[in-house]
Amino acid sequence: MAQTTDCTESTCEPCAYSAEHGWWGPLANRGNSHCPQCHRTWRSTTECHCVGCCRQFATERAFGLHRSGQPDSRVCMDPADVNWSNGKAKLARRDSVFGEVWSVNDERGVSWERDDS
Ligand SMILES: [Zn+2]
Ligand SMILES: [Zn+2]
Ligand SMILES: [Zn+2]
Repeated sequence: MAQTTDCTESTCEPCAYSAEHGWWGPLANRGNSHCPQCHRTWRSTTECHCVGCCRQFATERAFGLHRSGQPDSRVCMDPADVNWSNGKAKLARRDSVFGEVWSVNDERGVSWERDDS
């Protein structure tokens, strides 16, 4: 079964652990990280989580593409609205075991990143 994120539940196990111990504990030992805002867990070794909009990105590069503006005042864009000049989407959404993840497409709309999940 795929794990589901639960944004409404306040009794989040990793968050409860973190509040008590000051770090993610067993979760971090497995190479995972966790967001105290949306309570999503992800593989911190590969993926990028945006603390601004709580979207998940397959790579640092994919993350960078949804940010726009000056370096000191960047804002989050909806990844679905980030397009190449030819109108093809720069970012594609797919579902991982932890939920949706955005990855980079090339100009033809073909994903650059292998799905190794
Ligand atoms: Zn949590
Ligand atoms: Zn964002
Ligand atoms: Zn989050």
